Amino acid sequence: MECELLNSCGFFKKYSETKDLACRSFIRNYCKGQKMTECKRKEYRKTHGKPPVDDMMPSGGIIAS
Ligand code: SF4
Repeated sequence: MECELLNSCGFFKKYSETKDLACRSFIRNYCKGQKMTECKRKEYRKTHGKPPVDDMMPSGGIIAS
């Protein structure tokens, strides 16, 4: 099971290869897991008609760089 937005998602593109454990667990739980319907990035897209910044996490927070 994978999120239907996987191929167009900036977060996934940017962080799919990361070793960062927090990001990896987001990907496991949201992008490829049970919580994909709860993804705040998805919700943002729906509300604003465009995707959020790449650094917005599926939980809605922004990754500090
Ligand atoms: S971050 Fe959200 S919208 Fe992007 S691929 Fe993962 S579940 Fe889908």
